[in-house]
Amino acid sequence: MDVAEKLEILADAAKYDVACTSSGASRSARKGSLGSVSQAGICHSFSADGRCITLLKVLLTNVCVCDCAYCVNRVSNEEVPRTAFRPRELADLTIGFYRRNYIEGLFLSSGVIRNADFTTELMIQTLEILRYEHRFRGYIHAKAVPGTSPELLDRLGHLADRLSVNLELPSAQSLKRLAPDKSRTSILSPMRQIMASMAEDADTRALMGKRTTYLTPVAPKRKTRAFAPAGQSTQMIIGASPESDHHILNLAASLYRSVGMRRVFFSAYLPVNDDARLPATDAVQLNREHRLYQADWLLRFYGFDVDEVIEARNPFLDPLVDPKANWALNHLEQFPIEVNTAPYETLLRVPGIGVRGAKLIVRARRHATLREDTLRKLGIAYKRARLFITCDGHYAGQGVDFTREALRAQLAAPPEGGRHGRRADKTIPGQLSLFESVDTPEKAAIRGEGPKAALGKGAGRTAESNYWDARRAKACEREALGSMPGGTIVGDAALSPSPCGSGLADTPGAGAEKRLRSRGRRRAPASPDARSASAGATPSKPTPEMLFA
Ligand code: SF4
Repeated sequence: MDVAEKLEILADAAKYDVACTSSGASRSARKGSLGSVSQAGICHSFSADGRCITLLKVLLTNVCVCDCAYCVNRVSNEEVPRTAFRPRELADLTIGFYRRNYIEGLFLSSGVIRNADFTTELMIQTLEILRYEHRFRGYIHAKAVPGTSPELLDRLGHLADRLSVNLELPSAQSLKRLAPDKSRTSILSPMRQIMASMAEDADTRALMGKRTTYLTPVAPKRKTRAFAPAGQSTQMIIGASPESDHHILNLAASLYRSVGMRRVFFSAYLPVNDDARLPATDAVQLNREHRLYQADWLLRFYGFDVDEVIEARNPFLDPLVDPKANWALNHLEQFPIEVNTAPYETLLRVPGIGVRGAKLIVRARRHATLREDTLRKLGIAYKRARLFITCDGHYAGQGVDFTREALRAQLAAPPEGGRHGRRADKTIPGQLSLFESVDTPEKAAIRGEGPKAALGKGAGRTAESNYWDARRAKACEREALGSMPGGTIVGDAALSPSPCGSGLADTPGAGAEKRLRSRGRRRAPASPDARSASAGATPSKPTPEMLFA
């Protein structure tokens, strides 16, 4: 089997892994090396089935000795074609793609070939070729295989920017039922080890940077790579097991708190196998996944506690109203708030006002009294926010009863008008295929009709894609007029889809996270002392071991 065939099989097998956004690392280019990692992270895209992918997201092998009920690569799926990259093949492929500007990093996962250690050794060999032979400085996210020896995990962590160990399912009971080859210990132990190694690495680097009066600072002969500078993340499948959203969010919060998790990803269960242990439904709970991400965002950036977002007696998130709006509806006694005087923390709790919006309000009101027009200019989602605020003493939500039922009906209704509404109007349901034949701005430019002729004609176009198409079309026009090097565009040959084509978009969530992190909100790895303190914390803050039971 040649490399292209292997790539087709192994890239397709990797599409179910969602834990791939937000690198969080920063490393500049250097003479004699190849690549860099920008603070903004690597490019992320949506695949045709709506999943977020990196541009080279691939398995080392889809051979697997395990039999996880939900996985297409499980050993009992005998009809699945199996293959594996040799470490050098994959390293060379990555570099070839990088040099052609197809990718900005590598997301490497793998089935378990023979055992966890053997698989990890192959991954290490691949990354060593990349890092030491090709001197590749770009972003690498490696999946650690549960059950890997601590020594190998340590080596892997010094080669990758981010490590992740999949939690797979929200409880050890479900894990035992659906993934009998994995255990609570084999998953949580590596997470704890990664946390400890990151803290130790940070301490060592801080000490090495200190100057003393009695010792001449001597630079180490060869700098060792930092241990997983972009931290660790994890992923769990939602909907394949009966755990509630309340349980899932508590577990996610404990992972952020106790093992310094950068990100917990939720993946709606996709039925790919027939198995009596799995739910007998074809429904994919994408809306539930979306609500969990919204709740997760509240925990990480808005200062909410899990108990505020969801209650044990009502353990599933409201599918019609987002978690923040739901909290506001349950606490109407705290609203409306005066937007000109409310503290920053209170502004953050208003539906329609985000972190950026709250900061802008605080800054702008120093200079003037804020009213509707100013709030709109600041980018506040005014149609939602107006129901919960007063502007200079006047309630902005006239026309709607200030009751839970009336407000909920307003918030649950699909958005109309405004920025969101206009954007929604322009989006036609369905994902645009990269290979679909649509009228594009390039084609319009060739016909001499100008970019506007094509805008809005293609299926699945959005305001953003139209914007980028318009820019590309202008470039095409310039090129056609000979003002750019490269000659005239001829027919469809110039329209071949590139990995950065208009069908792909940056994930909004990842972008927002990157912006927040770049403003100094990055979670520093806690010291082992802090960890042990948190491990022995009060019973109201359970550890992952307590919840993942
Ligand atoms: S170990 Fe991973 S690849 Fe193997 S069956 Fe389980 S989920 Fe699939």
